[in-house]
Amino acid sequence: MQAVLQTKIDEPLLEDMLTNLEKAKTWGPRAVSRLENLVRTGEDVSLFRVNPLKYASERGVPEQEAVEIFLYAASVGLFDMEWNLLCPGCTSVVESFASLNNLDSHFHCHICNADNEASLDDYIQISFTVSPLVREIAFHHPELLSDADYLMKYHFSREGRVNGDANWLETMVPHVPFFSYLEPGERKTFSGKIHDGFLVVSDLINHTGTALVVGGVESGPATGAIIIKPGLVRTDVAGLASGSVTLTFQNDSPRRSLAALINLPADYKTAYPVSFAPFLSGKRLLNTQAFHDLFRHEVIKSVEGLGIKDVTILFTDLKGSTALYERIGDLKAFSLVRQHFDVLGRVINEHGGAIVKTIGDAVMGSFMSSSEAVKAALEMRRAIQDLEQKTGRRDLIIKIGIHRGASIVVTLNDRLDYFGQTVNVASRVQNLANADEIYLSEEVYNQEGVRSALGDIPVREDKAKLKGIMDEVRVYVA
Ligand SMILES: [Zn+2]
Repeated sequence: MQAVLQTKIDEPLLEDMLTNLEKAKTWGPRAVSRLENLVRTGEDVSLFRVNPLKYASERGVPEQEAVEIFLYAASVGLFDMEWNLLCPGCTSVVESFASLNNLDSHFHCHICNADNEASLDDYIQISFTVSPLVREIAFHHPELLSDADYLMKYHFSREGRVNGDANWLETMVPHVPFFSYLEPGERKTFSGKIHDGFLVVSDLINHTGTALVVGGVESGPATGAIIIKPGLVRTDVAGLASGSVTLTFQNDSPRRSLAALINLPADYKTAYPVSFAPFLSGKRLLNTQAFHDLFRHEVIKSVEGLGIKDVTILFTDLKGSTALYERIGDLKAFSLVRQHFDVLGRVINEHGGAIVKTIGDAVMGSFMSSSEAVKAALEMRRAIQDLEQKTGRRDLIIKIGIHRGASIVVTLNDRLDYFGQTVNVASRVQNLANADEIYLSEEVYNQEGVRSALGDIPVREDKAKLKGIMDEVRVYVA
């Protein structure tokens, strides 16, 4: 039984939020009205765990604009932002958190019986659900969903793909011979055929289950009981042969359960290799300036931080800024340095990056890709030189260094920061740079797209000794 919610919108509140959204920044034409249209007329499911990248491609709008409008919409309260942990084996949304604070990158999927470690670049998805204050949708009350909707639209990610473009869930349907809600004390029986491989018997609401091997025995028990208890699923079935079975689920827990049988072939991981349609990853979120501007208070509580497998870090500094302050005075120097921060912020933002922090006159930025970081560096150098054409003096001289690699994201001094050797090396590579120079580590230079980003700009290869690093490293100077 599925209750149908009437589409009811809190008009004054929606108007208020849309006004705040309009005012928050300059949007592309119809950006806000497109979102308003979705909130007013979208089906419930289209307002649940919205993937901004999908929103962008379906409406032909730039991805960055889509990401930003959902971030701003979350900041004015129109949408709630969620951090989802996705299982790479079966696309389950294993956990969903309302804030980064609660996110723990270690998680267990009971369907795959696997311990997973998510990093910001892979299985951490950020999505947006309309606020229940503005419009209530069925997904705010998963207990009102039909068992089929719970299974297909709530438990599993809608972004799951298999063998390229096929929808993972649609591929899985024939492998789920039984699913049903069971109220406390309720019992239901499945009679039907099962195939060789695994039979996952699970309670999807409470994320518990166990897997049985099917096959490898001449004939196994054709009947059995599956008992759902708080925190576990128990069964008296050991070896099962393929063929007809009668299995009875009994809910002995005080909560409703969603009993499901998932019958997968033994080679399901190679037969149905899971991938995901592009979604807003934690990495991309951290490389979006609007996230840092709007959600400064977000902190990572986990002491070991969150891993990121590949991030490009750029450092800048100004040459001789002490002398500059001395020469033109604090006030003028500060105004110039401020203009330089504005230029750098704009360029970083335009190239899929974000300012992590400023340290005195230096800037630390992070980027999605090395080629964009290199393009940004070249543009920064050009833009700072342009800025100075106006004054006719060389007061601001920038020095840039870029490196990439794995890092961990932590909260330091109440803000998100990167930590680890990649950051140390990036900072030391920057230290090598002299006036107007851009230093790239070998790891950056060899990345796809970097050489074409450099174009016909002359590049010198060099070797350098970096503090704290044993061997000399190869660097490239543009
Ligand atoms: Zn799984």
